[in-house]
This record gives sequence, structure tokens and C-alpha cells, in this order.
Amino acid sequence: MSNHATTKKASPLTGLNLTFLAPAAGDAAAVASRATKPEATGAPVAARVVIVGSGPAGLTAAIYAARANLEPIVIGGIAGGGQLMITSGVENYPGFPDGIEGPELMALFRKQAERFGARIVDADVDRVDLSSRPFGLWAAGVEYRAQTVIVATGASALWLGLESETRLRGRGVSACATCDGFFFRDKAVAVVGGGDSALEEALYLTHFASKVHLIHRREAFRGSKIMQDRAAAHPKVEMHLNRTIEEIVGADHVEALRLGKADGSGEETLAVDGVFVAIGHRPNVEVFRDWLATDEKGYLTTLGATTASAIDGVFVAGDVDDHRYRQAVTAAGEGCRAAIDAERWLEAQAPGPAEASAVSMPTTAIAATGSRP
Ligand SMILES: Cc1cc2nc3c(=O)[nH]c(=O)nc-3n(C[C@H](O)[C@H](O)[C@H](O)COP(=O)(O)OP(=O)(O)OC[C@H]3O[C@@H](n4cnc5c(N)ncnc54)[C@H](O)[C@@H]3O)c2cc1C
Repeated sequence: MSNHATTKKASPLTGLNLTFLAPAAGDAAAVASRATKPEATGAPVAARVVIVGSGPAGLTAAIYAARANLEPIVIGGIAGGGQLMITSGVENYPGFPDGIEGPELMALFRKQAERFGARIVDADVDRVDLSSRPFGLWAAGVEYRAQTVIVATGASALWLGLESETRLRGRGVSACATCDGFFFRDKAVAVVGGGDSALEEALYLTHFASKVHLIHRREAFRGSKIMQDRAAAHPKVEMHLNRTIEEIVGADHVEALRLGKADGSGEETLAVDGVFVAIGHRPNVEVFRDWLATDEKGYLTTLGATTASAIDGVFVAGDVDDHRYRQAVTAAGEGCRAAIDAERWLEAQAPGPAEASAVSMPTTAIAATGSRP
């Protein structure tokens, strides 16, 4: 994120025309013609690896799978590129000492994946059938048949839903203190939320900010007692309970917060340079919910130290299974691991024609994932 207080340096890649690619007309047809027959025939598109999601995890998996000659198809989502598409300066992704804009970084990921032959379809997967191999996935009316699937659908930060919040995103409004706290050295910031994440973000921000206002709409925080005590005891943290955010004030960068009092006794204005919304994340698991196991927070789970899910041949990478680190570099790392896991898993399978290998899912997988449609 860029902040008005931060002098932005020119990107070393400026001038390379690397805006993220818009959905290409006929992309699905191109995939279909390359993999089997055009989808106009209604024939399913066969692939050894289908990757769902085109954020850092999905596109890194695509680079590795493509370089292993697995000819991956990435069904990247209508909102291609993932969460970094809504942020500006990314300063912590290695290899870019002067920082890089989020969309520019994701355009480079995509260009690199395509260079090695990954095919990217800008559509959402709306249905899957993981009961047997090849697995079935449907997107924009096209059926895909995959020997392996890598799920890299990420997570979505939850927002307050204010017009001013959307307008000022990347201009002082953020959902990630680890990513953007650095921009607020010696500035006053606000953190909105009442759970452990909000308390953690507030404490983290005390390393940079001169003042951290912690704002919660209720009488008490939901977060753990120990975190509450730590925040309450910190000299830079000031708590504001029973306050709602009415507006984030500022024309082109954050200048203040307009707060409502829960008892209806009026409003107050708080001067801040940044606002961190910490009201939670929602992992994008909808289409996989009936097939893959989730933890108590709704994130997908993996087996042991690998990226394998409980279904043989289905792998998971990135923020969709990670509520701890949530960084582009960790998501990319998991994408790499998932592609290597998928490649080794494919190698270990008995050879056979793609369409003929309807292998039943092991009973252990069924037990682990519960009931299936
Ligand atoms: C405001 C903000 C600023 C950030 N800044 C930084 C930063 O400076 N540095 C940093 O390291 N990290 C930053 N992050 C975190 C970083 O963006 C994430 O950790 C990273 O993008 C996770 O990558 P991912 O590939 O797992 O998921 P995502 O980036 O969430 O990508 C998931 C992809 O899956 C697609 N998808 C979802 N459902 C489907 C479906 N059914 N079918 C097909 N596709 C689907 C989505 O459209 C999306 O393209 C920031 C996050 C936010 C919100």
C-alpha cells in the first residue's frame, strides 16, 4: 500500500506494460483446442493438473507444473490475480528492492506461468465432483477432467462495507498490518475489530505508529484475555469501545475517522493517517466445502507436512489453508510445494490413458471428508 506520507519510488519495471490481462475472449476455447477438442463439441477438457485460483499460490503452482511438462490449466477466477490486485505498493516480496505494485507483480506471475505453457482461463469454478479420478470441474459451462487438482482459491478479507472504505483502500485503508504497517512510521492509526486478529494487529502496529486506536463496536473484546491485557497495558494503544465507524474521512488519503456512539449519544472524530480493518477473513471454499475437510475456522486442511488433502490427487495451497501467515511469499511457497506434490503423486500412479483412469477414492478419504453429495 502507498501512503501519502511515503514517497513512492519508480518501479524498475515501469514501462513494461504489465497490466493484468483482462479475460481473453475464447480463452476456454483455446484451452479446449489445445488439451483435447473445442468445448463447442461438448467434450470435457482433459488435463493432468487443473489449478483453481490465480493468486500467488495458483500461479506459482502453474509455473512449477508447467516447467515439469504437466501442461497445467489454471481456472483462475473472474477476479484473477487474487488479493494483491487490490493493493498498491508491495515492499516485502523478495526480488523487488524498490517495491512493486500488486497488480504489476501478479501480471509478472502470470506472464511467467504462460511463458512455460500454462493455460489460464479467467472463470470461476462453480461445481466439482471429486468422487473419482479424473476429477470433474465445471467453469463457464466447460467441463474439465483432471488427474490432479490444486486448490488455491485464497481467502477474502472482510470489509466494513462503507463507500469511503472502498475509495480509500490502498490510500491509508488496509486489511493487513504485516503488509502495510511499515508505511505508518510515527503516524496515528486505527484498528477496527474485536477479536484476537484485531488485538494482534494493534500490538504489531505499535512497532511503527506513534498511536494505535483500537475501535470495537461492542462493550467488550472477543479476543483472548492475555491479548486484551497486553493491548490495554501498551502505552501507545487507546481503546474505544461501543463505537461504530460511520465514515473514513479523506479525499485521496485517510485523514480521520467519524465514529458513532453505540448509545446514540452523538459522534466524534478521530484524526488518523491509516485504518486497519481486522474483522476477519473468509476462506474461499464454497465449491469444495462438501468434499474437502475444513478446520474450526473454515480453512481447508492438509495431511501432515505436505499439501495433500484427504482426497488422493487433490492438493491445497495458499491462504485457503493458512490463517496464520497470509503473505504472498508464503502462498507462493505453498504453490510450489503443491505442484511438486502433484508431480510426484502423478509419477507414482500406474500409467494409463487420461480418460480411462476412473480410480475410486480410497475409503480413508471418504471417512476423513464426511458425507459427499
Ligand atoms: C489489502 C491487502 C494488502 C496485502 N498486501 C500484501 C503485501 O504487501 N505483501 C504480502 O506478502 N501479502 C500481502 N497481502 C496478502 C496476500 O495478498 C495474500 O497472502 C496472497 O494473495 C494469498 O495468495 P493466494 O494465492 O493463496 O490467494 P489469493 O491471492 O486470495 O488468490 C485466490 C484466487 O483464487 C480465485 N478463486 C477463488 N474462488 C475461485 C473459484 N471458485 N474458481 C476459480 N478461482 C477462484 C480468486 O479469484 C483469486 O484469484 C495483502 C492482502 C490484502 C487483502
